[in-house]
Amino acid sequence: MSVLKSDIILIGAGVMSATLGTIVKELAPEMKITVFEKLKGAGEESSNEWNNAGTGHAALCELNYTTEKADGSLDISKAVKVNEHFQLSRQFWSYLVDKKIIDNPKEFIMPIPHISMVQGEKNGLFLKRRMEALSDNPLFADMEMSDDPAVLKQWMPLIMDGRKAEEEPITATKCETGTDVNFGSLTRTLFEHLDAEDVDVRYEHMVKDLKQSPDGTWKLKVKDLKTNRVEHHEAKFIFIGAGGGSLPLLQKTGIRESRQIGGFPVSGLFLVCSNPDVVEQHHAKVYGKAKVGAPPMSVPHLDTRYINGKKSLLFGPFAGFTPKFLKTGSYFDLIGSVKPNNLFTMLGAGVKEMGLTKYLIQQVLLSNEKRMNDLREFIPNAKNEDWEMITAGQRVQVIKDTEAGGRGTLQFGTEVVTSQDGSVAALLGASPGASTAVHVMLEILTKCFPDRIKEWEPKVKEMVPSYGKQLSEHPALFQDILKKTAHTLMLENPIHEPSDIRQLS
Ligand SMILES: Cc1cc2nc3c(=O)[nH]c(=O)nc-3n(C[C@H](O)[C@H](O)[C@H](O)COP(=O)(O)OP(=O)(O)OC[C@H]3O[C@@H](n4cnc5c(N)ncnc54)[C@H](O)[C@@H]3O)c2cc1C
Repeated sequence: MSVLKSDIILIGAGVMSATLGTIVKELAPEMKITVFEKLKGAGEESSNEWNNAGTGHAALCELNYTTEKADGSLDISKAVKVNEHFQLSRQFWSYLVDKKIIDNPKEFIMPIPHISMVQGEKNGLFLKRRMEALSDNPLFADMEMSDDPAVLKQWMPLIMDGRKAEEEPITATKCETGTDVNFGSLTRTLFEHLDAEDVDVRYEHMVKDLKQSPDGTWKLKVKDLKTNRVEHHEAKFIFIGAGGGSLPLLQKTGIRESRQIGGFPVSGLFLVCSNPDVVEQHHAKVYGKAKVGAPPMSVPHLDTRYINGKKSLLFGPFAGFTPKFLKTGSYFDLIGSVKPNNLFTMLGAGVKEMGLTKYLIQQVLLSNEKRMNDLREFIPNAKNEDWEMITAGQRVQVIKDTEAGGRGTLQFGTEVVTSQDGSVAALLGASPGASTAVHVMLEILTKCFPDRIKEWEPKVKEMVPSYGKQLSEHPALFQDILKKTAHTLMLENPIHEPSDIRQLS
């Protein structure tokens, strides 16, 4: 039996493996990297541009990152953290443009105002308190607020048109430094680069099993889906970046850290506007507030997107249910993930998360007319014939036992699981997802390569100049970085005119 050896194996060709592979190639070009992807190309699952919302999550507009505490005060720590992490991605992407690894930043990142919008006096008050709480932080310095209908009409004409005088008042905040990110394009570009750097990227190769040998090396069984032959590979470090497919692979490792963890799949649906006249009337990502009792990933938003040089308009997400962990997964994924070691965790979640179950049932039963009515809370004049439904990616929400939440607590964030010896790392969960890929990968390298990270630090600082610093505590450095990255990533001149968009194609 022939065994192919690598230093590092990356499972999955999504934005996470793309980011880790690119960083490692910069830090240690001598390392031999092999990638396995079961599909025919890179970025075809959650990272694909049509499978996620493409928001560069920096907490500029997402209200679920600022929570109300029991005493009524606001906790902004998560919003600050998400923004800090996004700044690392911006810096790394700028480095890639400077190094000509990415030729044209407009193919994957575009400037777009990020707006939070709420209706009613109570919600307006919440937004004002949020703005006050964030206003001292340099990361949110450009946030503006208004409840003046004339100003709001300038910010979001499509949303303000057709509103009646007797309706509850609208309040909104706006940040001009927001972005729309085409993670699919970014992933494909990075994989083209890795290919050119002699990384062995094997498409249509599905990892079936992985076991650790007594000497710590990982042995993988990989099926070549074109020939049905099984290949044997080994490496000292494995990154499981298989998106929804990460949990089953993590369970196969048998590591202690893989126990008492389960997953629950929630699919996303978006309404897409097919009328170019309507698309032209909106130029922002407008995030609302999740309805009472609805989970954080259900926050409704109306997004201008730039996909392959064309401006589009998407509204959602609506939730759907299928037991598959990937869009291209199997109907047995959910049941197959229930193991003796996580049975009570899963049952615990089943009992605890009746609210989520009820919400999902309601969402699955929504008629198209009801979905259009949700859209009409954003666009009062929306016409049925201008909108069609698409199915986006699968999110596998992590379920685990926590001290605070007890047995079977549903997690809404991104979770990195690493083995104690640092030989395997797996990425689970979805939000804030792709936007924080650089932060997540630097964390993994710190944990899994402790003996090399010191030696790599100067190069990491070249790629991410603020590495090791909190930008919210260094306002001058933040302004400098914001300006430089805006210049390199061509984010300085927000696009407002249709003619600007046409130039992209
Ligand atoms: C509806 C929705 C909206 C979202 N919106 C945003 C957003 O606005 N902003 C944001 O930053 N993030 C967003 N996200 C999250 C973001 O899309 C994900 O965090 C990110 O794409 C995950 O990348 P990945 O590389 O881990 O996974 P993926 O892109 O899913 O890639 C995993 C790859 O692994 C492959 N694979 C799986 N199993 C195997 C196996 N056994 N062998 C070989 N290959 C395998 C799959 O085929 C796939 O190509 C959203 C997600 C969803 C679902």
